[in-house]
Amino acid sequence: MATETETVLLHDTVLNGNGRTKRGVPEGLWKRCPGCQATIFRKEAERRLGVCPECEYHWYVSAQERVRQLLDDGTFEEWDADLMPADPLNFADKKPYRDRLKDEQARTGLRDAALSGTGMIRARRVAVAVTDSAFIMGSMGSVVGEKLTRAAERATRQSLPLIIVSGSGGGARMHEGILSLMQMAKVSAALARYHRSGGLFISVLTNPTMGGVAASFASLGDVIFAEPKALIGFAGPRTIKATIRIELPKGFQTSEFLLEHGFIDRIVRRCDLKSEIARTIDYCGK
Ligand SMILES: [Zn+2]
Repeated sequence: MATETETVLLHDTVLNGNGRTKRGVPEGLWKRCPGCQATIFRKEAERRLGVCPECEYHWYVSAQERVRQLLDDGTFEEWDADLMPADPLNFADKKPYRDRLKDEQARTGLRDAALSGTGMIRARRVAVAVTDSAFIMGSMGSVVGEKLTRAAERATRQSLPLIIVSGSGGGARMHEGILSLMQMAKVSAALARYHRSGGLFISVLTNPTMGGVAASFASLGDVIFAEPKALIGFAGPRTIKATIRIELPKGFQTSEFLLEHGFIDRIVRRCDLKSEIARTIDYCGK
């Protein structure tokens, strides 16, 4: 009989089999593209890093997959893997937060919505952190805030370029109340110290980047990249429309709209992201 530890490891192996973790459901050979409705051969989409060959729709990729895509093979060393979320408020909505965490952990193979560490991007050492929208919408609770803060602090001490890839449909994680809200200030303060030390912070916004994530670290990059057609904003368009009662402009809260209005620096296709980050690091002399 397997010991408890072995059971956990076995479970992890199953979850991470094929390098895919999404929903834990066996996957078919084909998938439908939400961008153009075409039926796409799954292997072909994967070969293109999760981008539709017909219309360039950028599918969700997990934090683990994002790290594989961005970093040189075998160079990633995870930081703070043992940080576990707590339930200080004994919070419950449709189900107790404690149970929700367990379910999300089992489904995503993550302990919370962020993954951080160090690795190489085309042989340049970097600090990297990724938030994953599959884990309670990628919202920032205490663990996400702490991981990002520690990543910024290590990047400061070790003089490393810092890359944060945001995929967060939720902002602050309401299940942790004020402890979640204060992460915005905490991460931002760590980034300010990093900035004063002369660090280079490249923020990469992916679909979706919203709420308190967009309103804190994701918008603080020295350079801000976004994937094409990502939804980026604070409150959702429906909320804004209901509040200010005017028709929102076409393409509101997309990468393309934000580029036009000077909020981001460049739209970078996923296939170019790694090279573009490496080039930026060189260009900034880091
Ligand atoms: Zn498509």
